[in-house]
Amino acid sequence: MVELKEMLAPKHSAARTGYTLLPRYITIHNTANTGKGAGAVSHGKYLSGAGAKKAVSYHYAVDDGCIVRIIPDSENAWHAGDGANGRGNRQSLAIEICENPESDLRRATDNAAELTARLMHDWNIPLANVVQHNHWSGKDCPRRLRRGEPYSWDTFLAKVRAFYDGTSSSAPADSGILYTVQTGAFRDRTKAENYAAQLKRKGIDVFVTRRGELYTVQTGAFQDKKNAEAYAAKLKAKGVNTYVTQKGNV
Ligand SMILES: [Zn+2]
Repeated sequence: MVELKEMLAPKHSAARTGYTLLPRYITIHNTANTGKGAGAVSHGKYLSGAGAKKAVSYHYAVDDGCIVRIIPDSENAWHAGDGANGRGNRQSLAIEICENPESDLRRATDNAAELTARLMHDWNIPLANVVQHNHWSGKDCPRRLRRGEPYSWDTFLAKVRAFYDGTSSSAPADSGILYTVQTGAFRDRTKAENYAAQLKRKGIDVFVTRRGELYTVQTGAFQDKKNAEAYAAKLKAKGVNTYVTQKGNV
């Protein structure tokens, strides 16, 4: 999988109101932004700046070279156009596929398919719950995929399925290793959520993710092991028990 960068939108902003999300669906979008430079990093920067003031957001932006995570999986984003309590906004993870001209749309869409498979795996989401933005609000989105660009929606789903099957049966790839700082692992999702809430009250940014049979409470993911260890040490100094684990093929 291509590099995953974390560029979280500011907490308590309009873009990141922080309602708890237990993801049951994955919603696919195209950005409809064809401006030069409107890639994944640019979408991350936007939601850290001017965009944070608007209640429009998404968990991930993906182009041909990287994936940017903007809202943690365990918080909602505003993307589905189905209202403040809509299932799209409150039960789904949003992936935006970039349309900037210098990004190869096929590779960007393939990257989104791979990310979708990864999230299905992490959150135990069935392929039947991978939907278009159109499903929630009737909007013509993801407009490129709906037009068969770079391929049909059915092909997209077939690719997701292939990535999903690969993820579940093969060893981690040699690239894309990520070091995650974990504070706990639980068999019971509610216990993990409760522990996460306790840490959040202490001002520590955490999210719950599924790993095999366990729900792990993570505070961050880093490409560089040293950065992960430094962050773990900082939390230990605050009295939070942490350990660094290596996660391949994120
Ligand atoms: Zn959309």
